[in-house]
Amino acid sequence: MNEYDSNRIYDLAKKINYEQTKNFNEADCYVLNTCHIREKATDKVYHDIGRVKKIFKNKKKPIVIVTGCVAQAEGEILLQNEKYIDAVLGPQSYHIFNKTLLKVEKSNDQVNSTEFNVVEKFDELNFIYNSNNKVSSFLTIQEGCDKFCKFCVVPYTRGEEYSRSINEISNECKTLVSNGAKEITLLGQNVNAYNYNGHKLSTLINEISKIKDLKRIRYTTSHPVDFTEDLIQVHKHNEKLMPLIHLPIQSGSNKILKAMNRKHNIKDYLDIINKLKKANSSVRFSSDFIIGYPGETEKDFKETLSILKEVEFINTYSFVFSPRPGTPAAKLKEVDINLAKERLIIFQKISNEIKMRYRKDLFNKTRKVLIENKMNTKDKFFGRDEHFNSIVIKNKNDLRGLIIKVKILTGNQNTLFGTVIEKEKSENFAA
Ligand code: SAM
Ligand code: SF4
Repeated sequence: MNEYDSNRIYDLAKKINYEQTKNFNEADCYVLNTCHIREKATDKVYHDIGRVKKIFKNKKKPIVIVTGCVAQAEGEILLQNEKYIDAVLGPQSYHIFNKTLLKVEKSNDQVNSTEFNVVEKFDELNFIYNSNNKVSSFLTIQEGCDKFCKFCVVPYTRGEEYSRSINEISNECKTLVSNGAKEITLLGQNVNAYNYNGHKLSTLINEISKIKDLKRIRYTTSHPVDFTEDLIQVHKHNEKLMPLIHLPIQSGSNKILKAMNRKHNIKDYLDIINKLKKANSSVRFSSDFIIGYPGETEKDFKETLSILKEVEFINTYSFVFSPRPGTPAAKLKEVDINLAKERLIIFQKISNEIKMRYRKDLFNKTRKVLIENKMNTKDKFFGRDEHFNSIVIKNKNDLRGLIIKVKILTGNQNTLFGTVIEKEKSENFAA
């Protein structure tokens, strides 16, 4: 979502004649768009400002604006501790970026804008052309969260759940497609909690799949509690909807899930997985895990390993629990950090083995790949298959924006390498 937000901030800044520079050393204004989900985020802000200070030691000070969730959570402290920062802007107030920037240009006062103005934000952004022209683009449809998992800062930094209207999403989607997008990933902190006047994510997906030149649709991140039957049915019937479902579980232990206030248990989770597999046999799953949550015993950890093996996630994002200031879990007694790190290593080793088994099974098979970019290396292109696997191919002609059939030859944890077997009729493939 920060990538989407950064692009939108840039679209706004263009209106007052700012333009992006590729040279880090020469900007007039630095915007640090931050994430607060795990620790060290604030340290990173101070570190980056240190870099800027060094570059401009004997030159006129550039404008420095901190945006995103660190600005929201710690804006006042940042302004007090670091006078080099000119403004902090929360994730729900960045529509006033230009107003803030112009104010900073004229005065020496530090500006703090961390109100929750999500409705106003999207009302304003709807009139700002989305200039993103990537083959695969992000589109925010929902923001915020009402679930209050005990470890998570999102409800405090992004505010309560808000869904944009189907109409405005559809219009923005058409803009992105006319800019060249073939794939759209619908974004939300709880994307499947999307609800606009009773219209759910399933309706929205079916609506945007009517856009002819849009070939692929993805969405992230889902919460198990909001995974309703209508969404499962879209995975059965909608060919544009990609069959890789990112469904964070966090832990394999019911005791820990309860302690986290996750609102789902292992049975609920497995029921969804089984229904989805029944609806569409090509679906695969990825997930998020927190290792070493306060109170996690060896037994709880073993249960996490067992769910990992049972579902055979083809990709996982796993982190040691990070106490976030202001969240209820931050007050709990932590698992010994060395033990938590050891568990993380064991978890990731098994997860990688599962991933590699799945990948080896793809060798010599054909995948439909949407080509996104030309790589720096000559004649090499990067794309993704339906399961979001990164695939690199070699080809003389420019294949960007096409869905092509690729035979997988080899691969590693990060990338699969293949050869083009069919491209002429590429655009006609159902993605
Ligand atoms: N809304 C999604 C859900 O509930 O499944 C997840 C969104 S959250 C922004 C992204 C991921 O960050 C979470 O799934 C979780 O694994 C991880 N995360 C959040 N807070 C964390 C913390 N305090 N320590 C470690 N990981 C954390
Ligand atoms: Fe955070 Fe997701 Fe829980 Fe909301 S549902 S509090 S975003 S982890």
